Amino acid sequence: AKGDGRSNYRYFSPEMNANMLERIELEQRLRRAVLQKEFCLNYQPIVTLNDRSIIGVEALIRWQDPKFGLIPPDQFIPLAEETGLIEPIGEWVLEQALIDLHSWHSQGYMINMAVNVSGRQLINGNQISFNRLISKLLKKYGIDAKYLHIEITESMLMEDREQCLHALEAIRDHGMDIYIDDFGTGYSSLSYLKSFPISVIKIDKSFVDNMLECPSDANLIKAIIMMGKSLELKLVAEGIETEKQLAFLRSLGCDFGQGYLISRPLPNHELSNLLTLRLTP
Ligand code: C2E
Ligand code: CA
Ligand code: CA
Ligand code: CA
Repeated sequence: AKGDGRSNYRYFSPEMNANMLERIELEQRLRRAVLQKEFCLNYQPIVTLNDRSIIGVEALIRWQDPKFGLIPPDQFIPLAEETGLIEPIGEWVLEQALIDLHSWHSQGYMINMAVNVSGRQLINGNQISFNRLISKLLKKYGIDAKYLHIEITESMLMEDREQCLHALEAIRDHGMDIYIDDFGTGYSSLSYLKSFPISVIKIDKSFVDNMLECPSDANLIKAIIMMGKSLELKLVAEGIETEKQLAFLRSLGCDFGQGYLISRPLPNHELSNLLTLRLTP
């Protein structure tokens, strides 16, 4: 607290100081990145586990900083959420994703686009502007809402039930599908999940990683798939890296998957090439 010399001293320990400086510098850089649009999107295919046809892609943001190089989203999305910068960043993501989706659709590749959305973009009064933005952009690029899917994390769902429910209902009323991301990490119950207008559960990569070696992870995945099916939801497994993992998930009845086995996240021109190879328009 202020005036208490000792706690001030502890607060401004050399380490802390360095961290704070780093944080401040990162925040300044992030502000500039927003203005200069130093971001790009990569797209990771989502495929059916039965025949591996591409049904859609997930948009994943990348930040190319002139000094630090490529900064992965895990290192700046939390800061963007704290500072509110996630709002302009989120707008940029939506528009860029729809620009690229429009170009694939106009070539005849009618795939879906899944976009990650932070809680901050949806609650505390932002819900209305989010829905306005969506309407505006879908209209601007002539895209049917059914092709746009919104991914929100299970943890966000558990934070503020009422606000979240309202925001998600508005999204659903628009005609978009809602995915619950990182499912299994937040311990939400079946009855809790049932109260939200969601269509897809994404099984977290951490369970897929260990399921073949670790019976408890395998059981957890089985339980999630059974639960999802009983709620008539679709299931996507993320982080599939081996044929064995894919075969196992498929045998359990998981519908879709994504992961390095199928493809890494790709820049838009590389995704275009993949679509040309893999899909008939
Ligand atoms: P996420 O939504 O869970 O995305 C999946 C992450 O797993 C991505 O990391 C992806 O590149 C990675 N991945 C996919 N398949 C594999 C695999 O087979 N093996 C391994 N090792 N990794 C795989 P990425 O792109 O670094 O994104 C990290 C997180 O950042 C995302 O996790 C998401 O929470 C967040 N994020 C990314 N883009 C956005 C965005 O536009 N908006 C928001 N709010 N968050 C975003
Ligand atoms: Ca995601
Ligand atoms: Ca995820
Ligand atoms: Ca994740």
